[in-house]
This record gives sequence, C-alpha cells and structure tokens, in this order.
Amino acid sequence: MMSWNRPQQNLTEAELAILAAQGNNQLTQAALQEMLMAQQGMQEVAAAQNIEVPKVNFYPSRHPDPKKARRKDIKQAYKLLQPAKRSWINPFRWALGRKYRYNKDTGTCVVDGCNCANLIQHDNLYMKISDEETGRSLWEMYWQNPVTGQPEAFIAQDRVTSGKKMRGTYCPEHMHLYHLLNKWEAEEDKQNEMNPNRLRDKVKRGVSIVTVPISSVKKNDPTPAMLQKYEPFFAELERDSGKTKGINILHYANPATGQNDVTMVVFDLRIFQMELQQMNMPTQAFQELLNVENAKMQQNLDGGLGTGEV
Ligand SMILES: [Zn+2]
Repeated sequence: MMSWNRPQQNLTEAELAILAAQGNNQLTQAALQEMLMAQQGMQEVAAAQNIEVPKVNFYPSRHPDPKKARRKDIKQAYKLLQPAKRSWINPFRWALGRKYRYNKDTGTCVVDGCNCANLIQHDNLYMKISDEETGRSLWEMYWQNPVTGQPEAFIAQDRVTSGKKMRGTYCPEHMHLYHLLNKWEAEEDKQNEMNPNRLRDKVKRGVSIVTVPISSVKKNDPTPAMLQKYEPFFAELERDSGKTKGINILHYANPATGQNDVTMVVFDLRIFQMELQQMNMPTQAFQELLNVENAKMQQNLDGGLGTGEV
C-alpha cells in the first residue's frame, strides 16, 4: 500500500483509530495523536523559522499479536533513536576518535543534529507534548535535573536506554519516541516478570520465592511509630538514589538479629557536582533559555492552566 509510506502524515481521526486498534496495545490512539502532534509541531517550526527539522518516520507494527507488535515497535524505536555515527571512512572518526556526528552540546539532537535551542526559543514543543496517561509534559519528565529541580537538557545515551552519556539530546519528536520506548519496555518487563520461566530461572540461581502473609509482615515491621512519618522521605531518597550516585542509603544490619539497626543517608556534594558537570555541557545562553522556559512552566502550573494545552 503506497499510502503507508508516511504513516504519520495526513491521517484522519478514523484512520488513527484503526491504526491504534492494531498491533502494540500500548500504542493507543492518544499516544499516536501525541506522536502526530510532535511531528506537526516540528514541521510548523521548520516552516516558520527556516530551521532544518527532521521528520521521524516511525511505522507502527501492525502484527496481529500485540506482544510481537510491541517487540517490533521497540526494535524500531531503538533503531531510530540510535545516535548518528560518522562513516568509517570519515577522517574525524578514525583520526580523532569522534565516532558520533552530533555530540557537541546539549542543545543538539544526537540523531539528526537539529538545533533544539532554536526550537525551544520559537515554540517549546517539549512542554506541549505530554504523556497521554499522566498528562505530564516531556519538559517536566525529562528536562529537569532530578536532584536540583533545575531545568536541564535531557542527555542521550549511546545505546539509547543504556551506555555512556553523550553530549547531545533528543529533539521533541525523538524525545517523545524515547518516552514511548521506555513505557513499552517497562510493560514488557512487567509481563516477563510474570512468566513462569523467569521464576524457574530465579529458583535455579538460588532465589526462592516465599509468599509471606501480609499480617505477619506487618507484625514484624520494627519501625517505631515516631519514625513512620519519615517513610515518604525515604521513598523519595530511594527513588533519587537510583538516578544519582550522590545519594546513598546505607543500612547496617545487626549481625546477631539481622535487623537494620543503623541507617545512614549520605549526600555527596562532590559527586553531585561531578554529575552536574558531566550532564551539563550547555552554553551559558542555552542554560538561560532553559531557565526562562521553566519559569514559564511554573507560571502555567500556578495559573492552573496545565501544560497540555496547545
Ligand atoms: Zn531528533
């Protein structure tokens, strides 16, 4: 079918619904609509500003088995989000070791080299494209430092969801695809975890699964009532400690009873600063721009307008 050459363009609502009903269950009509909006937004900016803006040609799988369709979508997303490499014969690559084409600063998309700083200045699409379920914008989810809360460019990794941090980012369209990819993978992990084979693997590795009745867990919880109010604080720490090496929660178990007698929280400023430096390679002007955009978002939130409006 020739019309599938550019699946994201010129689709009517009805066609979108049909596409959403097929293949990957997580690629809902709402998700497709966000995808479409990202693409249209980018093209509009391109036309208005004369910025060279790429178009991401993602073709949703239409495989009848939703799990296989998701697998295919994940594979395709990885391919599309891979940072652009220089060719083997390019002297930059073999003489200077600069493997990646767009790896200079955090204002540039690592896939297509699109100037995201320019884009944001004209129209901050990161703020307009949201998760179709939570309503949180890409800006809120990915463009803020988890530790400081300061606005900061998202940093791409050389193997997309893992690997070394690059110095570039993703443009709004690639960023949205990256977000979807993460959701699909999380869903896949969740399902794999329930797979009986996975359980057998764990048992083989000496992990035994014992179901403990909730009541007995509660009785054994040694946390004194006075400390219970700190639980949300610790939950937050647990979450952030996954994102940065600067937060460490140390437990010292009592060798006799096996209970956690001492818990220490360590904030390591040196590591924060090091991480910030590694993550932050923006120019001064770009950082200022990010600050302005964040202030705008705060205003929107305070005004109760939300961030999803167009
Ligand atoms: Zn891009």
